[in-house]
Amino acid sequence: MQEKPYLTFSQHLKERFGGRVHKISIDAGFSCPNRGATRDRPGCLFCDPDGSGSVGIDRGFPVAEQLELGKKIMIRKYKAKHFLAYFQPFSNTFAPPAQLRALYDEALGVEGVVGLAVGTRPDCVPTEVLELLEEYHRRTYFWLELGLQSSHDHTLDLLRRGHDYACFLDAYTAAKARGLRVCVHVILGLPGESRADMLATADEMARLRVDGIKLHLLHVLRGTPLGDMYQEGGIKILEQQEYVSLVADVLERLPAQTLIHRLTGDGPRDTLLAPLWSLNKWEVLNAIEEELRRRGTRQGSRVAGD
Ligand code: SF4
Repeated sequence: MQEKPYLTFSQHLKERFGGRVHKISIDAGFSCPNRGATRDRPGCLFCDPDGSGSVGIDRGFPVAEQLELGKKIMIRKYKAKHFLAYFQPFSNTFAPPAQLRALYDEALGVEGVVGLAVGTRPDCVPTEVLELLEEYHRRTYFWLELGLQSSHDHTLDLLRRGHDYACFLDAYTAAKARGLRVCVHVILGLPGESRADMLATADEMARLRVDGIKLHLLHVLRGTPLGDMYQEGGIKILEQQEYVSLVADVLERLPAQTLIHRLTGDGPRDTLLAPLWSLNKWEVLNAIEEELRRRGTRQGSRVAGD
């Protein structure tokens, strides 16, 4: 198989653990500051009732059981041996440290779980939480996943994120000062953003030399405020070729060492309004690779010294 023109997280995991590592998403029952204690506030414009597009989670079971259920599927399909417990939907640091510790330990106690990935918001990592995360960073293989989406405050306002870019920078800097691995989530195709805006966010991520990045294509889901805007004709959606060329531009700008955790998203089939082309995930991924090969470039091509 040809080497990919970008540095994949899955390949990094394979090298580190001597075999494929499967990420299992779990819903540990958290909410998020934007959705209120009972998850009943609308939150970000694109947020769905399940806390932002997470699919394939066996909700309602304790953390260890969700992992065992996920493991069973992975073992049957891939003979999987190693797993990363991914605390995915909502804000998985939005609780007192003692409660977080109990849930993270429950996940690490499951056989075959080699590490944790914890997704959260930049305004949800106070000092006492960062202290705890640093402890896990020392104990196990640990990733903090920070949702940023855009480096532009006008976009964050429009999205009703409830934090600005300065808040992200504070959280990111504090996490890096403790040595944490940080993966940043960015969405391409956000309403009101030009290509130049999106590339400026990529340039910021390159400047910070983030350890990892997840690029998401904006998914418009039924039952979200964004879905309502779309149905009223209020937003423009990226075409597949636009997205492919944009992702290639972003990859060229990112340092060659940044681990690429994701280049598109898995939208829930039953509620996805647009873009429907995103359901052909492999077609999109192949097209991105082909685009870079056609250009004769790769991740880091536009970074001086990389
Ligand atoms: S931060 Fe995440 S869970 Fe909270 S409202 Fe926004 S998308 Fe939803």
